[in-house]
Amino acid sequence: MKLLVIEDDVRMAGLLRRGLEQEGWAVDVVGAAVDARHAVSSTPYDAVVCDVGLPGNESGLDWCRWLRAEGVWTPVLMLTARTDVSDRIAGLDVGADDYLGKPFAFGELAARLRAMLRRGETARPAVLTNGALVLDPASHEAHWQGRLVELSPREFALLDYFMRRPGDVLRRTEILDHVWDYAYDGTSNIVDVYVGYLRSRLAAAGAPDLIDTVRGVGYRLATSP
Ligand code: CA
Repeated sequence: MKLLVIEDDVRMAGLLRRGLEQEGWAVDVVGAAVDARHAVSSTPYDAVVCDVGLPGNESGLDWCRWLRAEGVWTPVLMLTARTDVSDRIAGLDVGADDYLGKPFAFGELAARLRAMLRRGETARPAVLTNGALVLDPASHEAHWQGRLVELSPREFALLDYFMRRPGDVLRRTEILDHVWDYAYDGTSNIVDVYVGYLRSRLAAAGAPDLIDTVRGVGYRLATSP
């Protein structure tokens, strides 16, 4: 696996290189967005670690936006200042796959990179939208008309699955297979229970009932204009 690290801070870049090489990755380091453009044009990388703050007039966010505009879907992890929420949101909006705030534990960086590499390189929007309902798989947040929908992890996973198949009738067994990622030793009644929870959560955020019950089959997320 070959990684590109874009980081102008020499000390941080050195730490990243050493740590990632110890994890068994081949690592190239560049210190500016312009060099990163040349690097990805000549070398196929498996993943990129990119600092938001770069010298010159092109930030890490600008670079990531450029990369996606080029149609390149190499997984990108952005490094941001821990406190800067706006950077994190912006990172996801320009198509980064994940972000990590500085300072970070190296073990967490390595784990996130492994997870990104497992997911692989597929063209995908940064967020899922269905009318006024917006779900961000990276931040694990959903909003209805800008209002946060409070969800447990399982409810989030269920909504995520619906949002990837809007308008499709999803059978209970199919939902079980995709949202309950272990061999669930019970009946598909659990799906009905969780759809009920999800409806309540959406209603609490002011959304109409978007989930249709298809009798004898399963459920369908209504497509919103
Ligand atoms: Ca920097």
